[in-house]
Amino acid sequence: MKLIYCNECKDVFRLINDERTCMCGKASGSYKDDGLNAVIAGSSAVPLALENMDMVNWQRANTPHCAPMIRAWFIVPGVFDYPEIEIVE
Ligand SMILES: [Zn+2]
Repeated sequence: MKLIYCNECKDVFRLINDERTCMCGKASGSYKDDGLNAVIAGSSAVPLALENMDMVNWQRANTPHCAPMIRAWFIVPGVFDYPEIEIVE
């Protein structure tokens, strides 16, 4: 799952197929039609990722009173082979 963090207003939101914008309007993004690649815009937009399988495993475990770890990381285009983020200004 891809998220955008706005370095200006500190909003965090997940990407969907329709374009979404942070609270201050300086970061935006959406998935492309393939639902995998994404386009983000704005100099304050910081792309993040959550490990999808951590979410699935948490749901399957059905243990609402525990707090398992979830992996999240910054997406840096060109690093760790993440070509699916396109940054536009
Ligand atoms: Zn913002």
